[in-house]
Amino acid sequence: MQPYQNILLATDFSAHAELVAERAKDLADRYQAKLSVLHVVDNLPITDSTYGPIIPFDVDITEQLIAAAKQKLAKIAERLKIPEDRCWIEVGSPKAEIVRVAAAENIDLIVLGSHSRKGLGILLGSTASSVILHAKCDVLAVRLVE
Ligand code: AMP
Repeated sequence: MQPYQNILLATDFSAHAELVAERAKDLADRYQAKLSVLHVVDNLPITDSTYGPIIPFDVDITEQLIAAAKQKLAKIAERLKIPEDRCWIEVGSPKAEIVRVAAAENIDLIVLGSHSRKGLGILLGSTASSVILHAKCDVLAVRLVE
């Protein structure tokens, strides 16, 4: 059995994200694997709570969301000692982008939360179950309790 070499942390900056991040970091340390972190700026933004209350809604906010996400990602990366070239931001559907990036970057383990219910996610189904279904690598869904 091959040890994990390339671990991807998918972070949504939710209240539970730190727990998921700690699990990914612990696994990366144990396996001496490379750790990367991905945040997907949803192309259907429905709430500003993730990025803070300062974002105006009467302009194209994608660029501002990316800038805010970069700052948040940099903090996580600093804490987990992830180099800048392994901090990734994509725009699109989180479910699809996590699977696409994992395949493109030869990831062998995706670590994400089992849920972080917010907004339309409640109606559209969980990111974790979709990623587990479609990813070509192992997926660890860290159990998150409300
Ligand atoms: P959800 O299905 O939205 O409750 O999210 C479950 C988990 O998927 C979260 O705990 C994150 O690990 C991951 N995730 C959700 N949204 C994103 C996102 N926009 N970017 C990266 N990871 C995400």
